[in-house]
Amino acid sequence: MSVVCFGELLIDFVAQQHGVSVGEAFSFQKAPGGAPANVAVAVSRLGHESVFLGQVGDDPFGHFLADVLEAEGVGVGGLRFSAQARTALAFVSLTAEGERSFVFYRHPSADMLMRPEDVAVDMIAGRKIFHYGSITMIGEPSRSATLAAVKAAQDAGLMISYDPNLRMSLWPDAESARAGMLAGLDYAQIVKISDDELEFLTGGRDVTPLWRPQMQLIAVTRGAKGAAAYTRGGQVDSPGFSVRSLDTTGAGDGFVAGLLVGILEAGADYVNRLASILRFANAVGALATTQYGAIPALPSRAAVETFLQTAS
Ligand code: ADP
Repeated sequence: MSVVCFGELLIDFVAQQHGVSVGEAFSFQKAPGGAPANVAVAVSRLGHESVFLGQVGDDPFGHFLADVLEAEGVGVGGLRFSAQARTALAFVSLTAEGERSFVFYRHPSADMLMRPEDVAVDMIAGRKIFHYGSITMIGEPSRSATLAAVKAAQDAGLMISYDPNLRMSLWPDAESARAGMLAGLDYAQIVKISDDELEFLTGGRDVTPLWRPQMQLIAVTRGAKGAAAYTRGGQVDSPGFSVRSLDTTGAGDGFVAGLLVGILEAGADYVNRLASILRFANAVGALATTQYGAIPALPSRAAVETFLQTAS
């Protein structure tokens, strides 16, 4: 049973000094990133087959990222290497207030130039879940490539999962960010959204405006407070776990992986098992905050199970 993740794969250069801007920082640590790629790694660590579809540059960073995914057991047969543009880079620093600030090098980057014909549709059939995000929906041609991949997944009967990530500085303005993120909702059965993104899209905390005809589940994450899942029939709340958080990067992606793995394992009856699925996803998200970075912090299946046995 396996998950196909489609989207951006990039390098985060994380400032080693806290409380300074990206421009002021003098050293950076190289960290693999990109939300859909993080999900692919997390699914693999949780014991299920995962495949990543996307495009990096045919450069040392792109090959490094491919090696990282492969070492994690993620299928990279559908990862393309562009000669036209470099691998996307993001320089990140933590402000004195603990907020992350980003400077992106994507003018354009290889992920943005992925075209519909670059999508390895042969990697999609026979899998169970297709997961994508909003970053490749920002501009063309990657927007058409995303929609082509979604269409191939629909045709092959996969369940579609969507995470509308908000990176305001990548959009021309707030209104186009809102419209673009909302457009992605039209295809997914499963949607994961953070409470901040929900507020950005709807102006409130009510998920009602997000429902689309094909949707089955909306999971809203609330940081340390855990998550809620909304179905056509009701709502399930699951409190967060108390952990010593060092860095929340990758928490949402870990949560998505936990949610998708829970759904895969529960099968058609997953709606009736949401309480334990959310608890599992919250545990993955919480553990992802206990170490720095996204991929290094994503827990193994054994780590999650041990944690769930000992957690109250
Ligand atoms: P995102 O990373 O997408 O902004 P959240 O911050 O809401 O998403 O985190 C996703 C999930 O990770 C939460 O629902 C929760 O399960 C877990 N999580 C995040 N931050 C913490 C924290 N400080 N303590 C415990 N769990 C956390």
